[in-house]
Amino acid sequence: MKISHHVNDDFLYLYAAGDLDYSWSLAVATHLAMCSHCRQRVALFEDVLAVSMEENSTETVSLSAMDLLDNMDEAEISDSDVKPTHSATLENETPVFPEPLRSLAGDLKDIKWSTMGGGVKQKILHEQDGLIARLLYIPAGVAAASHGHNGVELTQVVAGGYYDGDQAFNLGDMQTVGHDAPHQPIAMQDSACVCLAVTDAPLKFQNMLPRLFQKFFRI
Ligand SMILES: [Zn+2]
Repeated sequence: MKISHHVNDDFLYLYAAGDLDYSWSLAVATHLAMCSHCRQRVALFEDVLAVSMEENSTETVSLSAMDLLDNMDEAEISDSDVKPTHSATLENETPVFPEPLRSLAGDLKDIKWSTMGGGVKQKILHEQDGLIARLLYIPAGVAAASHGHNGVELTQVVAGGYYDGDQAFNLGDMQTVGHDAPHQPIAMQDSACVCLAVTDAPLKFQNMLPRLFQKFFRI
């Protein structure tokens, strides 16, 4: 699996420090299960933090992140565990989801989706203080609703892939979006896309933006 879009260092450092809330930790841990590059970054930050904790004799590790780490059996987090899926429906592929997502939500076939129109579906996994972790299912070639952001959105691809403007996000990739211009994920043509999306504020939905479609069709 070739991962092109990684977790940024701010999130990795906070994850290593145990300072991320549950939903952020879930997204980061799910990426780590598929990405040795980011696991190495976390290990580096943990080493730095361990030295600084020895010097300060303080402990700041939160239970939420540690719980997720505990769920990640070392034997289960090799990159090769998660294979790219290319079926149109994804329904027959098991297991699809990496840990720790699979332990929390079940696998793809177990998800009880809520429809959002246009074949797009969601399943909210965790909600606390405005921070929401949800699974999104976008059928092959279908565009999710265009939206902007009041806060931060992490989107971790756990099956299939999508385009956002001129960027491609494949299995294992994480997209980080802040207070940016409206964007519109469009699932790739060869497979449905399933993402774990975490937001800390309501999205700002827009009308359809034809120029994004034009950008997509030029790809
Ligand atoms: Zn990574």
